[in-house]
Amino acid sequence: MIAEVYDMRRGLPCHLLIITLAWFLTDTAGAQSPAATPKISGCRLDSSNNKFIQPTMERAIDAYAVIGKPLAITSIAINPPAPSTDGKTLDVYVVIDAAKGGTDPSGCATRVPRDTDPIDPISVRGGCVITSVEHMELRCSSSAVSIFAKAGRKEPRESLALLYVLSHELGHLHQKRLGEYAGRAERIDIGQPPAAKLEILRASCDPVSTKMEEEADASSFEILVKLVGAPPYRDPILSERGSVYSNIDQLALAADGWQKLNARRDFISPQPLHKAFEPTEFPTPVAQIEKNARAFVCDVLKGKRGQVSYPGRSISHPPMEQRLRRMAEQLKPVADKLPAKAGDPNFAPVAVLYGDLGPVLTFIYRETGVYMETLQDRICTRVNGPRPEAGCP
Ligand SMILES: [Zn+2]
Repeated sequence: MIAEVYDMRRGLPCHLLIITLAWFLTDTAGAQSPAATPKISGCRLDSSNNKFIQPTMERAIDAYAVIGKPLAITSIAINPPAPSTDGKTLDVYVVIDAAKGGTDPSGCATRVPRDTDPIDPISVRGGCVITSVEHMELRCSSSAVSIFAKAGRKEPRESLALLYVLSHELGHLHQKRLGEYAGRAERIDIGQPPAAKLEILRASCDPVSTKMEEEADASSFEILVKLVGAPPYRDPILSERGSVYSNIDQLALAADGWQKLNARRDFISPQPLHKAFEPTEFPTPVAQIEKNARAFVCDVLKGKRGQVSYPGRSISHPPMEQRLRRMAEQLKPVADKLPAKAGDPNFAPVAVLYGDLGPVLTFIYRETGVYMETLQDRICTRVNGPRPEAGCP
């Protein structure tokens, strides 16, 4: 994995690679606002996995009712030719990725995106995202659906990973919230008055969105626990415990698959970020992080012209593969409580959590995560404090 990533990013400085890994892997609440959701041509829709999405979705909706969070959805339309009009149908679009510039005038893909191609605006970033709450609409990337449905195996199926991803998005529908993490860099126009710039920085620190993500994950976890012991997730050949372990393994494999795809695709930062967001030593001393936070806030507030790019709110928000792994970790104690009767075969995991990452990269991920979290924390304390400009040159 390390070699693969580094090979593909030949010529990119290491710190940029690390940073992009940290937050450019978008999450399920990623990407598009309703105003930015273009109409999808039929040629961009993939219906090959409808037979797995449909029952998984229905099962998840039923489970939401059981856990006391009923959803106002009575039917699901996958890739409908026109938006449903009854107000109770969830429209699901499974969109084929296309390269930016790799489409014809009607939006149809003219070629398969190459590894380093940025994707076009119709492509879905971050797996799946709720694109409309009023008229309920979910969009998923077809490659994401395929990775989650296969979850490390050859053939797609109704996997627990697919259940997780769809449950998470249903959680956002229950909150009546759109996906809102762009998962990309945001830009501040430095020419604005300082008060306006401060307002933008403060909005970026708003923890509400992160709480909503955690809530959506908490609901998904409840649903996973509720359903993992029953068909189609229960593997009848294995003991109860072994079957849950097998599902944990598949979640880990889906996380790896997703990470690999994202490491290849749409990965290059379109604009350089402020240098505070490029950690140069691990672990970074706290005093240095404090200094970097101050430099960033000062450059934004005191600067007179130009633009400063900084990571969007997803900085404090773990990307999909991390959340899948967290689900897997959380399921382990559930598995351990289940019977593993003598005589029943148990499950020998083929994936180790984080198994695809060399220890070095794991270290970098973790340390970058720690750095980013601390930096964000310092920036937010400063911009929400009484003297955001304290110590500025
Ligand atoms: Zn989300």
